[in-house]
Amino acid sequence: MGLTNDSTGKKAVDSVLDIKKIAPGDRVIAIAGNPNVGKSTIFNSLTGLNQHTGNWPGKTVANAQGYCRYGGSSYVLVDIPGTYSLMAHSAEEIVARNFICFGEPDAVIIVCDATCLERNLNLVLQTLEITGKVVVCVNLMDEARKKGIRIDFDAISQKLGVPVTGTVARKKKTLDKLMQSIEKLLSKQEEETPLIIKYIKPIEDAVSLIEPIIKKKVKKINSRWLSLKLLDHDETLITALNDYLGYVLLDDYEIKEGLTKAEQVLSDSGITSDHLRDKIVAGLVLTAEYICSDTVHFDKNDYNARDRRIDKILTGKWTGFPIMIVLLLGVLWLTITGANYPSALLSDGLFWIEERITDLFLHLGVPDWLHGMLVLGVYRVLAWVVSVMLPPMAIFFPLFTLLEDSGYLPRIAFNLDKYFKKCRACGKQALTMCMGFGCNAAGVIGCRIIDSPRERLIAILTNNFVPCNGRFPTLIAILTMFFAGAAAGPFESVFSAALLTCVIVFGIFITLIVSKILSGTILKGVPSSFTLELPPFRKPQIGKVIVRSIFDRTLFVLGRAAAVAAPAGLVIWIMANVNINDITLLTHCSRFLDSFAKLLGLDGVILIAFILGLPANEIVFPIIIMAYMASGSLMELDSLWDLKQLLVDNGWTWITAVSTMLFSLLHWPCSTTCLTIKKETQSLKWTVISFIVPTVIGIIVCFIFASIARIFTN
Ligand code: GDP
Repeated sequence: MGLTNDSTGKKAVDSVLDIKKIAPGDRVIAIAGNPNVGKSTIFNSLTGLNQHTGNWPGKTVANAQGYCRYGGSSYVLVDIPGTYSLMAHSAEEIVARNFICFGEPDAVIIVCDATCLERNLNLVLQTLEITGKVVVCVNLMDEARKKGIRIDFDAISQKLGVPVTGTVARKKKTLDKLMQSIEKLLSKQEEETPLIIKYIKPIEDAVSLIEPIIKKKVKKINSRWLSLKLLDHDETLITALNDYLGYVLLDDYEIKEGLTKAEQVLSDSGITSDHLRDKIVAGLVLTAEYICSDTVHFDKNDYNARDRRIDKILTGKWTGFPIMIVLLLGVLWLTITGANYPSALLSDGLFWIEERITDLFLHLGVPDWLHGMLVLGVYRVLAWVVSVMLPPMAIFFPLFTLLEDSGYLPRIAFNLDKYFKKCRACGKQALTMCMGFGCNAAGVIGCRIIDSPRERLIAILTNNFVPCNGRFPTLIAILTMFFAGAAAGPFESVFSAALLTCVIVFGIFITLIVSKILSGTILKGVPSSFTLELPPFRKPQIGKVIVRSIFDRTLFVLGRAAAVAAPAGLVIWIMANVNINDITLLTHCSRFLDSFAKLLGLDGVILIAFILGLPANEIVFPIIIMAYMASGSLMELDSLWDLKQLLVDNGWTWITAVSTMLFSLLHWPCSTTCLTIKKETQSLKWTVISFIVPTVIGIIVCFIFASIARIFTN
């Protein structure tokens, strides 16, 4: 089975070591921490970059690096995926552990959540076992203050033996102290002497047998920690370690002998290798408890009461689903209503520009065919894509990011978890589905948050059933024309939004069914258990959300669409203008596909548009319009009403409209998504399957729908 490379120790090491320094003297600083504690916010703030931030655990799935200057020095900062421990339970933990261990960072910043510091110290303590070059950054201090939590940083610092600073990552100036601590730490000649965690006697006895041998043989890695890991038989670490050292450590006779003796000591005390890890974790928990016992003070008793009250409603048995539907409806309604006017304005503006370009071409005496190709082909498709896609995206993405930043997405995953489990898939699939709304390729990458390879593949194979932004405009346009009336009043747009909600819910329904079929056939297995963390609700930063969603998401998706739309426009123009036996190439192709397409409730033109739309779904509708136009180029259509007339004149009925929407929802992924799937699964087989599965489903669903609908209408 093809998996992402990050799940193997070796590849993870390869990827994490790829640090690009600007100058040889640059210091490498790793930013580690539990998920959702503000690592990426700190990283962005210090480097000026735009790593994905959002209020849910698991967004960062690969290392990101950026540069920052502070004082006289320059630093390479590496944002590593969030992890609760370094015991390598998941791909992210392996990436994080390997970077801290083998990436040879000059220092590690461990970001902690001030509202649950004791739990976060688990990672701090594990890191201190590997390196003393650590600065503990206690973030989210504003939230802690609100919850009546006081923290004595100096006392914690003394106990841990490393610097500890409090920050509010959203306020850049609070990060000054953090950078000062880093500077101070790096300017010291000797290493800090961090706290040494004491375990129960048999473990300490076993370590004392093997540690001196390790110390002699392996210079670059903390010998106490490595002894513990060898006793623990941490396979992924041993593989990565062998890779790092360039030889097989356990081939060394002395180490092997020492290890056998040490294991004997453990088993004499009744500690098997299964128990050892539990005992080590218990040691860490006790140490964290000891550190926080007199350094963290709670002034209020139940500081999470408000969140729990809200969660009772948002994830309640009777309230969870209705709220989800209402929110989805609200977001879609705002998107549809809000997009109407700017869309018309943009379209007017862009077609006005087209006329001026045409005037210029005439003035310059440019030949007709070149004008046709560039202006009527490339420019028109581009203009259509921009005017139809930009406004809904510029509204949908910020609204969606607001929900993401407030912490609502994990609640959706929580509500849907039960259903995914029933289908033997993973509840986190709901989160990857949410990411697919923007762009399925992003959704597929997001599937890295799912640890089980089987469940990750199910999520990848079904991500295409949520309509991405390339498909939204098509769905909205068809709905408005055929079911909500072309004149978009407030009532019509509510109706459009309700219908679009039904389409999306249908996509989710298909996702669940296909997940169930996959996990009963080619991807058999039992669902893995995982704990889905519900993060605290946080007030979103509205300004940042808008800027970020416009630049990172809207313009990114639009840029990709435009890059594809321009050459596609050219191909379409050529196909619509090159004649063979007095019939255009486009007509030849559509006639060839017509009888099969009719079985699905479509026609040859629609099917060829979907085929030509493989590079990007957003060009499907322009191709349909263009093919229907006798003139061979995309004509300006003043309103959706004109467009509907054109479609009806070409034989469209409500059945064609529904079939086109269904096929848009259920057909092959676009080429970018296919390439991403290939990259993520490292397997051609799974890429082909992910192409075939939605296509077959789309054909079956459309065939059934069209056949039944025809019976009723005849
Ligand atoms: P990561 O998963 O650790 O990289 O966390 P992010 O950087 O994505 O932050 C998670 C959420 O917490 C985002 O919504 C941030 O805006 C928010 N956040 C980060 N730092 C702070 C902080 O100091 N105070 C508050 N109130 N919110 C923060």
